[in-house]
Amino acid sequence: MQVVHLSAECYPVAKVGGLGDVVGALPKYQNSLGIQASVVMPYYKKKFISENHFDSIFEGSLALGTTLFNFKVLKETTDKLGFPLFLIYISGLLDREEIYSYPDETEQFIAFQLAFLEWASQLKKKPDIVHCHDHHTGLIPFLMYHSRRYKKLAHIPTVVTVHNAEYQGWFGWDKLSYLPDIDLSKTGLLDWNGTINPLAAAIKCCWRFTAVSPTYLEELSYNSNGLEYLFAGEKQKGVGIINGIDTDIWNPETDSMLMSNYTTKTAKKGKLENKRWISKEFGFAVTKPLIAFIGRLVGEKGADLLPQVILNCITELHSKVNILILGSGLADIEDELTILSKKHKKQFNCFIGYNETLSHRIYASADFILMPSRIEPCGLNQLYALRYGTIPIVRNTGGLKDTVIDYEIDANGYGICFNDTNIKSIMEAIHRAVTSYQSPSQLQLLRTRMMALDFSWSKSANHYVNLYKNLIIKT
Ligand code: ADP
Repeated sequence: MQVVHLSAECYPVAKVGGLGDVVGALPKYQNSLGIQASVVMPYYKKKFISENHFDSIFEGSLALGTTLFNFKVLKETTDKLGFPLFLIYISGLLDREEIYSYPDETEQFIAFQLAFLEWASQLKKKPDIVHCHDHHTGLIPFLMYHSRRYKKLAHIPTVVTVHNAEYQGWFGWDKLSYLPDIDLSKTGLLDWNGTINPLAAAIKCCWRFTAVSPTYLEELSYNSNGLEYLFAGEKQKGVGIINGIDTDIWNPETDSMLMSNYTTKTAKKGKLENKRWISKEFGFAVTKPLIAFIGRLVGEKGADLLPQVILNCITELHSKVNILILGSGLADIEDELTILSKKHKKQFNCFIGYNETLSHRIYASADFILMPSRIEPCGLNQLYALRYGTIPIVRNTGGLKDTVIDYEIDANGYGICFNDTNIKSIMEAIHRAVTSYQSPSQLQLLRTRMMALDFSWSKSANHYVNLYKNLIIKT
């Protein structure tokens, strides 16, 4: 069975968040289950691409409205990621340093999708399943089934995974001409609230969709940035499959980015050695509990509340904790955090930006990871934290609810959970964290318990393979 994953991100080629981690790992685990999964993504000016060798395997040209483009399909020559990796190159449009936030993002991702469809429709052996990830690839199911140009692909089942429904990629009807040779009687499938909405079109047209956790699948029907009615109506097509983690990369025993490697048995010592390094780096006292936040500094993650949380930790908790933040996002939040880090050096520090190595070191050295998310479709940070023996402090939402069990509520629990994204609830949770830190035996017990959990991709990759098999039976 040949499965093609289409995505804007794929670790280690290009990653902004969880989407990159998932697409960089899931195909590898699927291949270990005996299917042939590959990844097709845009070409970016990124280190991985300049440092590896690619063959050009296909060339074509396409029209985006009235503009003509040439494109190339490049294939990485060694399959070193555990799956074949294909890049679509379009000069001036898909050879950029960043993944998102360009003013012509609509053109960027439509051109990517059209180039894939041109190439795929000319392949002798067509894929058995086309698996699209998020809105950047959301027009593909519509175009496969309702564009005469791509009718050779119309029999292939499509699966769409919703990693984050907050972003939908909508654009105006004036750009309808970007979509070639479509059946105009079907344009209603593209529409949501008067715009062309790629995520809505994907949900309407795909054979099945998945959400990245069972709770997120439920939440989409009442909280999905305007698509609630659609998700509720299409629920019978949906399935919630929790993300996994790539334990080849995220393993404290072998992780080459850490200052010191450790196992469950040596976690106490190993984590302390990593904490010593980070405390020195960021000017903290190693004896105090270290609470970290890693992620996008946006409202979804509850990041707007972090400055007040930091101040409360200094006043209410008399500076008994250290807080470290790694992230980037809204300029206001970045600025506030930078000012606070200068003013309260001994209690709080931050690294504004993206830094993969530092993220690994923080998972290994922190005592707690704070995730006060308003929306968290799956969340990978808590899974990495668990693997590295770092207690997650999470709001009960989405995938956080599905993966973290509060140790006060369940005798087998290992995390700290709270219900509301507000200062009061976050501070209550932090107070609990400080209390648990004062009991080394409890800390050790929780660490041992959480490090024994298996959140690797093995189980979830199998759910996807079974989903594909059921679709193929129907063709
Ligand atoms: P998102 O909603 O951003 O996709 P996830 O929890 O699913 O959130 O995944 C976040 C991933 O991105 C994790 O691998 C996390 O370690 C990583 N990450 C987020 N921000 C940064 C950053 N500033 N530097 C390094 N890694 C980061």
